[in-house]
Amino acid sequence: DKTNNMNVFNQMESEVRSYCRSFQTVFTTASNAKMQDVNGKSYIDFFAGAGALNYGHNDSRIRTKLIDYLLEDGVAHSLDMATKAKENFLLTFNRTILEPRGLQYKVMFPGPTGTNTVESALKTARKVTGRTNIVCFTNAFHGMTQGSLSATGNRFKRAGAGLPLSGTTFMPYDGYFGDSIDTSAMLEKLLDDPGSGIDLPAAVILETLQGEGGLNRASASWLRKVEQICRKHQMLLIVDDVQMGCGRTGTFFSFEDSGILPDIVCLSKSIGGYGLPLALTLIKPEHDIWSPGEHNGTFRGNNLGFVAATEALRYWESHTFQKEIKRKSDVIHTCLSRLAADYPEWISEIKGMGFIQGMSFHEPEMASKVCKEAFHNGLIMETSGPFDEVAKLMPPLTIEDEVLKQGLAIIERALKTVTE
Ligand code: PMP
Repeated sequence: DKTNNMNVFNQMESEVRSYCRSFQTVFTTASNAKMQDVNGKSYIDFFAGAGALNYGHNDSRIRTKLIDYLLEDGVAHSLDMATKAKENFLLTFNRTILEPRGLQYKVMFPGPTGTNTVESALKTARKVTGRTNIVCFTNAFHGMTQGSLSATGNRFKRAGAGLPLSGTTFMPYDGYFGDSIDTSAMLEKLLDDPGSGIDLPAAVILETLQGEGGLNRASASWLRKVEQICRKHQMLLIVDDVQMGCGRTGTFFSFEDSGILPDIVCLSKSIGGYGLPLALTLIKPEHDIWSPGEHNGTFRGNNLGFVAATEALRYWESHTFQKEIKRKSDVIHTCLSRLAADYPEWISEIKGMGFIQGMSFHEPEMASKVCKEAFHNGLIMETSGPFDEVAKLMPPLTIEDEVLKQGLAIIERALKTVTE
């Protein structure tokens, strides 16, 4: 029952600090877009491991591959040694993702997480150019280690570093001052001007859509302009696709339809397929200047990650998969647009695209209230943005129509309750 459940949760909080204040229960099992807790209560998951579960919980095809691999005594851990699992992954990634898109990248395994790929990208850019400064953007989120945190715009998180964060220059992201001001022109002017006080940067790092920073989305023309500025000043363009990659925005890479070609792409989260830690840094061949041993990491050889990732990529062999993402994204968009029209005094804007969309509220605390009420009614979702003003929906891409509809209905009900 609920009391017992809270007891277990509170005991865990006090003894081991699970840290999760938002979802106060203890979860047991999960399947695709649903999770169960110790009381057998079922939840719909519109959080999807912060983007690590694009293929849902316990995808049966991926699970079978993992179990088979374990039963065959497949190598589980191998640092950076070559294994069959790694080879299969690399060949499949090339065949399924890079080649059909005409992309040529070398794949670097930077360590197990998103922050590791960002660190390696920043290091690569600095090593290639011999410069230190990195341009990053307002409301960017790139990770929690020193280098990636120095490119992260969140003041609360930056304070946790306990050290001065250096080597970066923040610029306004697209739309920061509203639609009428082109922030790429500001960037260009400041970099062109030897009197601006800005050291010529090694790279620009950006998210095409800011997942943690409030679902701000850069336009294709802004991205192309930023790319041109990079070329003009011999800076590398790094796209952090840790959260937006693997189909979150509707295409495998979030930048695919924008016409830009990043020098470096950061991937993690859903590349691991099953929620298993895995990260890749894609580097244009001419920038691959690492010597053996110069950048290493014990868990770069997470073979279970390779096995899961290889099977997950099979989704991208099917044309219907992308069509289905588009169709379901439209369902989400239609629903949120209707809610925005019904609650104009509360909802200021619908943001995001594809399988990452959200409602921004005039009063920021409304977003948390909606999420809290939704959780009470069996839906898991999080807030986003500098003021936590956006209620963010990011279900698994594989969510069933019926479950998606149920989740959206819970949001509608939550809105009704908290605005009454
Ligand atoms: N970059 C982006 C865009 C992210 O969203 C995140 C995680 N939210 C990271 C980097 C860091 O990833 P990790 O938490 O795996 O270190």
